[in-house]
Amino acid sequence: MEQREFAKRIDAQVKATLQKRIDDARKAEAEARANADAEAAARAALTSPSVPLARTTNPTNCAINNPDSLQAIINKKRCFSPLDYAPTDLVDTGDVTMRQEAADHYSAMAAAATAAGQGFSASSSFRSYATQVTTYKYWVGVSGSVQADTYSARPGYSEHQTGLAVDVKVGSCALSCFNGSSQYVWLRENAATNGFIQRYPEGLTSITGYTAEPWHWRYVGMAVASDMKAKGIETLEQYYRVEGGDYRQ
Ligand SMILES: [Zn+2]
Repeated sequence: MEQREFAKRIDAQVKATLQKRIDDARKAEAEARANADAEAAARAALTSPSVPLARTTNPTNCAINNPDSLQAIINKKRCFSPLDYAPTDLVDTGDVTMRQEAADHYSAMAAAATAAGQGFSASSSFRSYATQVTTYKYWVGVSGSVQADTYSARPGYSEHQTGLAVDVKVGSCALSCFNGSSQYVWLRENAATNGFIQRYPEGLTSITGYTAEPWHWRYVGMAVASDMKAKGIETLEQYYRVEGGDYRQ
């Protein structure tokens, strides 16, 4: 009897683990498609006549007042104000489009990684409000807003709109695959000294609002990143004691 209970429990654990793997794979696939779609939309926007966007008013209680801060915290409870905010000091290095200071530090970090034999490249960096409108709308059309919210940020709520976030990959190894790479290990060790943090660490979904994203790195400046590492604090929400988690509505 006891043995059967034990077997049942193990069976349930195995099933849960498998389900998590399936969910992770689905999410990674969805994000990859969203990224590809966003890039296609951005390219299309360059060649087609511009269509004025309907100005969306901010939902209540989400507007942040310091979008230009290098420590701005955007999450599912904290959005840009105005929603279509864009930084004014974006630079295109050929590898990334980020705010000047973040781009400089990303380039230095990428060069240090390459020198250490742990080179990686960027797959996505700054994404505009307009791009996110197209991307999010597309995913709502595909799977409905409830599902879309689990893998595609609502326009005005994406950290990529800060110009301080970058997704990295090694060759074709992107998204979840990046988790098992030596480059990820190198970043976990060395990102802080370059001013970057892993924004969505494992096991902190209830705080950040997102499941683990080993590929997504955020520039916060060397002082903050190093202090967070020294104190063992992994999220901006905990470091600055602000609310995170899921959307209000
Ligand atoms: Zn990202």
